Amino acid sequence: MSYLVLARKARPQTFDEVVGQRPVVKTLQNSILRDRVAHAILFSGVRGVGKTTLARIMAKAINCEHGPAQNPCNTCKSCLAITAGASLDLYEIDGASNRGIQEIRELKEKIRFLPTSSKYKIIIIDEVHMLTPEAFNALLKTLEEPPAHVYFMFATTELHKIPITILSRCQRYELKRVAPVELGGHLRNLAEADGVQIEQGALDLIVREADGSVRDGLSLLDQVFSFGEKEISTDDVIQVLGLVSREVILKLTRALLEQDPVTAFQALDETFSYGMDLKRFTADLLGCFRALILCKIKGCDELLDDISQQELALFQELADNHSTQTLHMKLTLLMQGVEEMRYSGQPRLAIETTFLKIIQSSDVIPVATLLSRLDTLLAGGSQQDRSQMGEGTGESVSSMVKKKLPQSPVADKKTKSKQAVEVNSQPEKPAGSAAPLVPTEQARTEQHAPEAGISPDDLPATPAELQVSPDENPTPHIEPHQRSVRRDWMDFIAYVRERSVWMAQDLQRADSVKEQGTELLLHYADPANCTLLRKDDTQKKITEFVLDFFQKELSLHFVLPDQSSEATPEGSESPLKERHLLANDPLVLMTAEIFNGQIGDIRVGPRFR
Ligand SMILES: [Zn+2]
Repeated sequence: MSYLVLARKARPQTFDEVVGQRPVVKTLQNSILRDRVAHAILFSGVRGVGKTTLARIMAKAINCEHGPAQNPCNTCKSCLAITAGASLDLYEIDGASNRGIQEIRELKEKIRFLPTSSKYKIIIIDEVHMLTPEAFNALLKTLEEPPAHVYFMFATTELHKIPITILSRCQRYELKRVAPVELGGHLRNLAEADGVQIEQGALDLIVREADGSVRDGLSLLDQVFSFGEKEISTDDVIQVLGLVSREVILKLTRALLEQDPVTAFQALDETFSYGMDLKRFTADLLGCFRALILCKIKGCDELLDDISQQELALFQELADNHSTQTLHMKLTLLMQGVEEMRYSGQPRLAIETTFLKIIQSSDVIPVATLLSRLDTLLAGGSQQDRSQMGEGTGESVSSMVKKKLPQSPVADKKTKSKQAVEVNSQPEKPAGSAAPLVPTEQARTEQHAPEAGISPDDLPATPAELQVSPDENPTPHIEPHQRSVRRDWMDFIAYVRERSVWMAQDLQRADSVKEQGTELLLHYADPANCTLLRKDDTQKKITEFVLDFFQKELSLHFVLPDQSSEATPEGSESPLKERHLLANDPLVLMTAEIFNGQIGDIRVGPRFR
């Protein structure tokens, strides 16, 4: 008794029978009807999506005696010969085992002659990416000018391994994974044709395992059929395919999220007692977390179509109870654990440790929530808010912020600022008091309103200055104290840079700056460095910037070497001469040589000494 596996028995013989791949099928059918079939066609896609099947149907359609038609007739001599694998004009070559130049030479020899019984000779090379570079080269010329009586069909799972010179000579068709709905429908039809009743849950499991590959789906269905029953339940499939019950996985996911170690460990034990494969088990668990995160993202519904409606409702409910950040953090922990498990001598222990870690990690409070709570508090929020934020856990809001949000913009800004204010809670003060929050608010003011003229200097420097008793207004009015040219010149350049980069650069080239009465003296040893700045409209702009920044009306005065003796304010040598000396300093020259560099800019003057 000979048994034909489903994958062969159910192989499509016409375009209409192909599962999925509608756009590709439609294009191929049109090319036949319009007599515009390319002489070299390349099908790519993952295993079992119909690459060689489509190539064979194409071969039949091209050679069909009743063609051209949308589908091969499957009754003429040519069609029958191809179906039986007996056509003399169809060469099917496995690229993996015939990969050398010799095989390609033989092939070229064969196609020199006209077809024996059909209209065309058709060459199908499967796994074409396995050919050697020499073999590909030998094919190039033929592909460029193929004989009129020859068609090439290539199939590959690894498109990137095919030389670009070959790719550019082929018409390419990319086959997609078959959608779960289509694959499920196909498998159900096959089961019904075999007189087998299959539960929807069982079918869903097979489809999920097949992962978009029709051949994998058929092999799994075959395996389940061999189980012998005429009615197949979900449990049968779980048992036959060695899967972990979805229920157990869901129970475990819920336990991990709801910090329930007992259920989590029981679920793990249950999977072990069934002798489940740990790798597959963790993959399923990761899949659950992925689904939960997708549930959180609006518009991702179609990415979840391998999950049944019933399960989807469960996922949605679970996802609604936790923030995206929490789900993300737990997924990250799980992924790390799975990675560790892979290299561990004690995989079960490794995964148990990971579960503990996940359970112990508490929920993440989104940054936005924390900030809005802070705002409420600062705006004289209710006592309830305060207890929510701090007193409940016995720590102050500020320390919570610090602990939970090390990467938050507020914290980041704080550490970067020279005048960073320590926000940690003061041990002598009651937890939850509003006082330590003030710096955070100020840091935010600074962040949100740099234009308002509040520089880091304007912030009080010590926490002592910030202590405000709860009765007082928690946001004290900040006196903008006077900025000075001497101290804040670099900040001024930064201020200008935000408005005009070149002006800032030229201002920075000044050898020294000095405030003298109502004048701002800019010393330039090299007049070329301030040519543009000295233009009237630019001077006007800078004067405005100075007024805005320093809150002082100062008139610009450029001091150049030939203009007055002021050009050398402090040094005995002129800056220009000093620059020349520096540029020719043996140490500088040697450094430039070692680093193969050039001297870009020489700055002299009090600021750079
Ligand atoms: Zn035919």
